[in-house]
Amino acid sequence: MHELSLMSQLLADATAAAEGAPIHALKVRVGPLSGVVPEALRFAFESLIPGTPAANARLDLEETPLRFHCLRCHADYATPLGLYNCPQCGATDSELRGGNELELISIEVPDHV
Ligand SMILES: [Zn+2]
Repeated sequence: MHELSLMSQLLADATAAAEGAPIHALKVRVGPLSGVVPEALRFAFESLIPGTPAANARLDLEETPLRFHCLRCHADYATPLGLYNCPQCGATDSELRGGNELELISIEVPDHV
């Protein structure tokens, strides 16, 4: 299950960004083409956090839609999986602009006193 190694990397990034502070929450963006199953990612998270600065952290997954740029009318639009036509002109020759991301967006750490 590759979610385990991906989550391990996200946690390493978060821990480095927190500079030793306990982490309250991690926000991760997951696109439908990332090949990652959100539930598997959550499971990986729960199994990896004990003993880390993120031991009590919450995982916020932001699931993004597919995003396209229409090459005919230049509209940018988001669409669920399976629907690719441009909603403005109906063109099917759109360029994929997003949907394959798996990235750490932000972390929450305690406020400095
Ligand atoms: Zn269009």
